[in-house]
Amino acid sequence: MGKDYYRILGVSRDTSKDDIKKAYRKLARKFHPDVNPGNAEAERHFKEIQEAYTVLSDSDSRRKYDTFGTTEGGPGGPGFNPFGGSRGPGGVQVDFGDLGGMGGFQDLGDLFGQFFGGAQQRGVQTARRGEDQEVQIEVDFEEAMRGTSVTLPVQRKVRCGGCGGSGAKKSRRCGECHGAGSVISTERMRIRTPEGIVDGRKIRLAGKGAEGMNGGPPGDLFVRVSVREHHFFKREGDDIHTTIPITFPEAYRGAEIVVGTIHGPVRAKVPPGTNSGRIFRLRGKGARNTKTRVHGDHLYSVEIIVPKVLSPAGEEAAKRFVDFYAGDPREGLPKGL
Ligand SMILES: [Zn+2]
Repeated sequence: MGKDYYRILGVSRDTSKDDIKKAYRKLARKFHPDVNPGNAEAERHFKEIQEAYTVLSDSDSRRKYDTFGTTEGGPGGPGFNPFGGSRGPGGVQVDFGDLGGMGGFQDLGDLFGQFFGGAQQRGVQTARRGEDQEVQIEVDFEEAMRGTSVTLPVQRKVRCGGCGGSGAKKSRRCGECHGAGSVISTERMRIRTPEGIVDGRKIRLAGKGAEGMNGGPPGDLFVRVSVREHHFFKREGDDIHTTIPITFPEAYRGAEIVVGTIHGPVRAKVPPGTNSGRIFRLRGKGARNTKTRVHGDHLYSVEIIVPKVLSPAGEEAAKRFVDFYAGDPREGLPKGL
């Protein structure tokens, strides 16, 4: 039997914070007890307006209200008295976290802690799991390939120590959390990334998200890992691709070269008569798949480069080399569309 706070303030559900304030002020002036002496109806309405404003003016409590709405009791039950102290402060000093075994209190309970006159009035409320949180880290390509650990400050939503999560202290709105029941705490966390992690992958740290409410379990922390690009090694799936420059004599006569891989240098043979662009594969020298734990391959393509320094002797050698080609290499290619 909750109340429709939006209807009480005469605003729609998507009204801005400013407009809610305006609507509240207008109505509060109209129904203020000083303006309506002895008018019980106006006083009741005035309290309702204040109650609605208290909830909707705080973005955190408004979000909770929007989520859990006016169902499951809310603050409108019998005996509800937002501003009176008739029932004493006993009810609001309950540590909700300790009641988890009993099912805890209703989700709205932490919000309205400052209002209710006795927890027993409100019945048993459900424990709520803390929200999942997400942070992002950036690692070097090399760190991603080998696995690394990063320590960074993470902001977590934790239960307010001032009010124990109830949002209220001595029957008033808690000054430390402003009635939300939770505060932001910064904790240093060490995050390990597994060998071979892929750019954009998320690591889940169970229970490291926001703390639960009313004895509910905490949410999870998701760490999104972004991997910096490498100027030489390019990852495609679990394979690593590189381009290796070779000289014309190496391509023509064949050679033994050293190919750099993420697992270190590997000796490899260039067969005689190798063309530019030919791709060679080094099995198992690629990135590790974090699920199968199998390594991909290293694929390198060779690129024949021309000497940087041109000389008359080189030009002579090039002229003589033309004779060794069997005709025009572009013979038979389309001349255009
Ligand atoms: Zn508090």
